[in-house]
Amino acid sequence: MPELPEVENVRRQLEAMLDLVAPSPTKPRPRRYLLGAEFFRKDLRFPFSKKLRDRVQAGKHLGPVLGIERRAKYLLFRFESGLLLSHLGMTGAWREIGRDTSSEVFRKQRGKHDHVRLLFDNGQSFVFEDPRRFGYMDWVDAGVQAQHKLLKHLGPEPLGPDFDAEYLFRSTRGKTSTIKSFVMDGRRVVGVGNIYASEALYRAKIRPTRKAGKLNQAEAESLVVAIRDVLKAAIESGGSSIRDFKGADGYRGGFQDLHLVYDRAGEPCRTCGTKIVSKQITGRSTFWCPNCQPK
Ligand SMILES: [Zn+2]
Repeated sequence: MPELPEVENVRRQLEAMLDLVAPSPTKPRPRRYLLGAEFFRKDLRFPFSKKLRDRVQAGKHLGPVLGIERRAKYLLFRFESGLLLSHLGMTGAWREIGRDTSSEVFRKQRGKHDHVRLLFDNGQSFVFEDPRRFGYMDWVDAGVQAQHKLLKHLGPEPLGPDFDAEYLFRSTRGKTSTIKSFVMDGRRVVGVGNIYASEALYRAKIRPTRKAGKLNQAEAESLVVAIRDVLKAAIESGGSSIRDFKGADGYRGGFQDLHLVYDRAGEPCRTCGTKIVSKQITGRSTFWCPNCQPK
């Protein structure tokens, strides 16, 4: 399943493919308009809303594309009048198809997992394919992003300014859940998946089984830094291996080669040589070094 680093890479790639970056600081950013969309089924994980269909099919009335953003694992195509929200689910992917492909030609070449196509005014079009159909899409009017049902409960972005030591320390007070479960809870902070949680806690020298409320200020600081570092490293390593933008398999970044504890039970700690141990915490495999991450 694509995690935050993979989705961030898709975001960067879509933005580059749509050529939304200004050629130089003095030149204006190119304007791209959506011409329309084709839906080849009624639903993915959820039915496509009437609002989504009406808005994206209205194309040019949405105003120019202002950028491709990311919130947690949602991709947000930002237009003047609102956001096209897209979640990749487990196997979803956006890919570009040949320029100026007519609807007629596309229908002939369409794969059976191609569910939605967006057409832009420069002849580009992007297809959303999703074999398992856990992905979803919706439209969010401008100005109400914070109230959207899928977005309103999300915690701060781990790489954004709101996730800092002060926030983590304050929000963990009195919490009896493990620190690992805490940082994996998207209401507390988004995008810290299972692998990244183990890796960040190792780097911060905090045992994953510790109660969140027992962290001291220095540990909160270390953990924030470690979460940011791990996610940045994962984004960068994913960036180099995602070239062809083909599908879920194309998202396999290089971060697994950098794991220090994840999936290394019984192997020596890279810092001290102690054997890495593993345990299920709230149903998820968790790894740590008993020496570097004391109780
Ligand atoms: Zn160790």
